[in-house]
Amino acid sequence: TLILAFETSCDETSVAVIKNGREILANIIATQIKSHQRFGGVVPEVASRHHVEQIVHCTRLALAEAQVTYQDLSAVAVTYGPGLVGSLLIGIMAAKSISWAQNLPLIGVNHLAGHIYAANLVKPISYPALALVVSGGHTELVRLSAPGEFQILGDTRDDAVGEAFDKVGRMLGVNYPAGKTIDQWAHEGQDNFDFPRAMLQEDNLDFSFSGIKSAVINTIHHAEQVGQTLNKKDIATSFQKDVVEILVTKTQRAWDQGDYQQLIVAGGVAANQGLRESMQQLMASRGELIFPPLRLCGDNAAMIGAFAHVKYQRGEFADWTLNADPSLDFSY
Ligand code: ATP
Ligand code: MG
Ligand code: FE
Repeated sequence: TLILAFETSCDETSVAVIKNGREILANIIATQIKSHQRFGGVVPEVASRHHVEQIVHCTRLALAEAQVTYQDLSAVAVTYGPGLVGSLLIGIMAAKSISWAQNLPLIGVNHLAGHIYAANLVKPISYPALALVVSGGHTELVRLSAPGEFQILGDTRDDAVGEAFDKVGRMLGVNYPAGKTIDQWAHEGQDNFDFPRAMLQEDNLDFSFSGIKSAVINTIHHAEQVGQTLNKKDIATSFQKDVVEILVTKTQRAWDQGDYQQLIVAGGVAANQGLRESMQQLMASRGELIFPPLRLCGDNAAMIGAFAHVKYQRGEFADWTLNADPSLDFSY
């Protein structure tokens, strides 16, 4: 099967062609980061406008790169949530148009399921699998008992981990999105600060990042007030080390409670080198670990095509009522 997939939930316009849910024939990603940076975050209206401008061009590029035509396709898939409603709608309209004009089945994909199924583009997922989704808007431990069967084991009580990286970065004067720069600094500084690691001791699988974020911000404010210069790289180092410890500890707890074949770490923050190193250490003695390559950690349509294949096989198609669902979760 060949699936044409669209992803426009946030600030990446992406179109991919995926074969059998596992092989990437094309994965075009047009990022809008430059347009949003001066505002310090994604501006929804600006994002929608960019998607409108880019989507036809990206679709042509994807088909050309994959060397396929509409006639070769088995289905059209699109992210319908969670994300920015105006952005989601552009992808949905594009997918519906092609589905209608070419008489192709339409598949609505959950963005978070997509992040997890990026793993399937690396190697086949074996079930049951444990997934840690770490992104700009989510921090979740998820059990996959079978293809497309998700169960949330743990969630963040407040900020998402990517959000914490971005807010701390903003305080340190780093352009949005800040995760990548903090990650670089974290390998150049000293671990001189001790920030609170909320809920580490609590016997659950939930996360909290607002405490550590506020502690970093307070440290920076305090230093400013007393005219002290802080080493930004040291702050980044301590912050990242503490965040990684929280993520690894909770993941270890979840893994040790289950009967998993694989651990999948997915989402934009899965690009984090400190996290990758610590998770590799954790899993060395435990079992298989899949980290998608960096290009498949951030938002992209290839991962949407990967999960769409599961729905295609299950015959789970959408009709014309498919609509954007900005707060879609796994209990869809
Ligand atoms: P969601 O997937 O929850 O809807 P999103 O799609 O906006 O949110 P992603 O694109 O998956 O989020 O991830 C973006 C986030 O990843 C940003 O917060 C960014 O700072 C973070 N990020 C990217 N690279 C790194 C890195 N190396 N270390 C830490 N964080 C990173
Ligand atoms: Mg993004
Ligand atoms: Fe995402």
